[in-house]
Amino acid sequence: MMNENRNRISTDLSGQAAIVTGAGRGLGRAIACSLARAGAKVACVDVDAQNLAETVRAIEADRGTAEPFTCDVTDSSRVTEVVQEVVKKWGGLQILVNNAGITRDSLVMRMKDDQWDAVLRVNLRGTFLFTRAAARPMMKGRRGRIINIASVCGLMGNPGQANYSASKAGVIGLTRTVARELAARNITVNAVAPGFITTEMTATLGEEILQQLLKQTPLGRLGDPQDVADAVLFLASEGAGFITGHVLTVDGGLTT
Ligand code: NDP
Repeated sequence: MMNENRNRISTDLSGQAAIVTGAGRGLGRAIACSLARAGAKVACVDVDAQNLAETVRAIEADRGTAEPFTCDVTDSSRVTEVVQEVVKKWGGLQILVNNAGITRDSLVMRMKDDQWDAVLRVNLRGTFLFTRAAARPMMKGRRGRIINIASVCGLMGNPGQANYSASKAGVIGLTRTVARELAARNITVNAVAPGFITTEMTATLGEEILQQLLKQTPLGRLGDPQDVADAVLFLASEGAGFITGHVLTVDGGLTT
């Protein structure tokens, strides 16, 4: 029976440990800062140690708790090591945000093998490796929130991004499957599919493409990293406990 006197959409994550990949900049940094502001202890993972240090500094300046972990998400043994270190340090792991991602754009006719492989490795294999490693401590703690950052490209495709769109569609399939596998252990697995958000990843879009995108977006603006961080925070919160296997678009209505 539900307690009707308690509002469960509290974003208090005190006492919980979180891992955020790709936390050195962009959406990952916004997500890490958001979870830390909500009280979570955040393990910030990235390949770039300098950017990582800046994220950790920002969290600490805001009186949050964070620890940097330099790690390539495609490196299976390092991923396992990071999860073990986090569990050892904070006594468990409750939240995982698989956010690290790259693009290597090209029309499919001209796409090189290494462009395809690099994107699939980081976006899909990286998400799989961290999910597998995190599942064990979450199962042990009988609670978990896994949130995968997909993309609207994984839902509708995007010319020039066959590799990226395939990787993100793969992330959605992985999300739905793992949601079914881990549900009995009180672990929810969801994806957030952002539309176009202002980060370095989208900084190189030309003016013409930008105007076209704005025209196709009912809310008439690009997203802000905080728009995505807020959605992640909700899915990590107590109030999202009955949501699993879902893909939440944060796209200003682009895919409607
Ligand atoms: P950014 O390129 O700004 O940041 C990605 C971060 O991930 C960087 O810090 C990058 O490090 C890090 N990273 C890259 N490869 C690895 C790796 N192998 N291991 C660990 N860290 C790695 O991207 P965004 O913040 O824009 O995007 C974040 C996520 O959101 C991605 O998954 C992206 O696909 C998704 N997304 C973004 C959208 C947007 O409009 N921005 C729209 C839809 C989805 P380094 O700086 O060294 O490259």
